[in-house]
Amino acid sequence: MSLIVQKYGGSSVADAESIKRVAKRVVETRKAGNEVVVAVSAMGDTTDELLDLAHDVTPIPAPRELDMLLTAGERISMALLAMAIKSMGYDARSFTGSQAGMITDAQHGAARIVDVTPGRIRDALDDGAIAIVAGFQGFNRDTKDITTLGRGGSDTTAVALAAALGAEICEIYTDVDGVFTADPRIVPNARKIDRISSEEMLELAAAGAKVLYIRAVEYARRHGVILHVRSSFNNNEGTLVLNENAAEAAKQEDGSAVEAPIIAGVATDLSEAKITVVGVPDVPGKAAQIFKIVAKTDANVDMIVQNVSAAATGLTDISFTLPKSEGQRVLTALKAEQGDVGFQSLQYDDQIGKLALVGAGMRTNSGVSAKLFEALYEAGINIEMISTSEIRISVVTRADSVNEAARVVHRAFGLDGEGTAIVYAGTGR
Ligand code: ADP
Ligand code: ASP
Ligand code: MG
Repeated sequence: MSLIVQKYGGSSVADAESIKRVAKRVVETRKAGNEVVVAVSAMGDTTDELLDLAHDVTPIPAPRELDMLLTAGERISMALLAMAIKSMGYDARSFTGSQAGMITDAQHGAARIVDVTPGRIRDALDDGAIAIVAGFQGFNRDTKDITTLGRGGSDTTAVALAAALGAEICEIYTDVDGVFTADPRIVPNARKIDRISSEEMLELAAAGAKVLYIRAVEYARRHGVILHVRSSFNNNEGTLVLNENAAEAAKQEDGSAVEAPIIAGVATDLSEAKITVVGVPDVPGKAAQIFKIVAKTDANVDMIVQNVSAAATGLTDISFTLPKSEGQRVLTALKAEQGDVGFQSLQYDDQIGKLALVGAGMRTNSGVSAKLFEALYEAGINIEMISTSEIRISVVTRADSVNEAARVVHRAFGLDGEGTAIVYAGTGR
């Protein structure tokens, strides 16, 4: 008997009908002779609605209470799914994250899994039941409090369970047919990718392709979990996310030794803002001082650019990007140390968009950046910042041109497919 972990995202369990449809799918998997563990997200846009509600009550909700609130979403779907399965004559038991043994650190809103003790899940399976686990949530042993794993964190729940239980595969069911060369909501003729390396998937997820949560990809990579991203609305094969060894083995097996494309895909991100520290004395130690202040706020800095200093003034500007949600916190911290650092002023820009081009082939192919810049130039799109890693090039543009940028770059690199990619559900929120 093999063990399969399935994760159903919010759009797959958006209403009672959808939950019944998912129940059927889970039962089919059980009937085929597998042990089944299911991780569920909150129904539809429940998490966003709960967040809105919290912000209607107070501008800055207490992190502990916010986690209490948000975890309610997944409890609703887990119980409904278990009921639906039971009504079909199959045994099912739902478990909260803490009952399922998802032990995390104490960081509310972005907790990391430190241990998984799925004893109760194993017992349920041994009793012949289907185990349904609330995604996105955990429990900290020291504070004894409930935590959440960050937006999109149900993916991580599924992967962590798959690793701990030694599952054969972790299936991520969503509202598109798999991982595409770009977000089909932005680039309608994006192509489905049959197989992608976990390395490329990690870069795409980091760059904003929310089809998989970055921490889930990291976790899967570290623990050798094979991911199959697919639609819950049909039986089509989706996308396999494989680490290098598994990819090599798959190649040997079916002879699919075709040359991998240079570019895997493009991703966009509208969730970041840019802070510019204006008029920084161009002497050693200033960058260290600035980023030490930023680090103390726990902000996740992404791109950093320092301009050449103007010879006349000996002053330079340093710009960096970070999640909008962390912008005010960092501005306040920098402002407080302005005298000490000696910069002139701060600028905050939350109207930026980030575009990233990802592909392992960049390592061995030159001219990728030139082609990217050319495509943007021809479309009249200005580049404000650039950063590169071994297999990724990212640029910052105005927020309102980033989607167009994704389309022109997608075309320029020959990624456009024949037809239109189908988005089966969801609001894209
Ligand atoms: P779920 O509710 O199932 O977790 P998400 O909304 O988190 O679903 O993720 C699925 C969505 O991710 C898709 O509807 C699509 O708009 C978006 N997406 C972004 N980039 C990609 C990509 N490269 N391939 C597929 N989908 C993508
Ligand atoms: N419900 C959570 C969210 O919307 C977790 C998830 O769906 O993965 O972020
Ligand atoms: Mg998701």
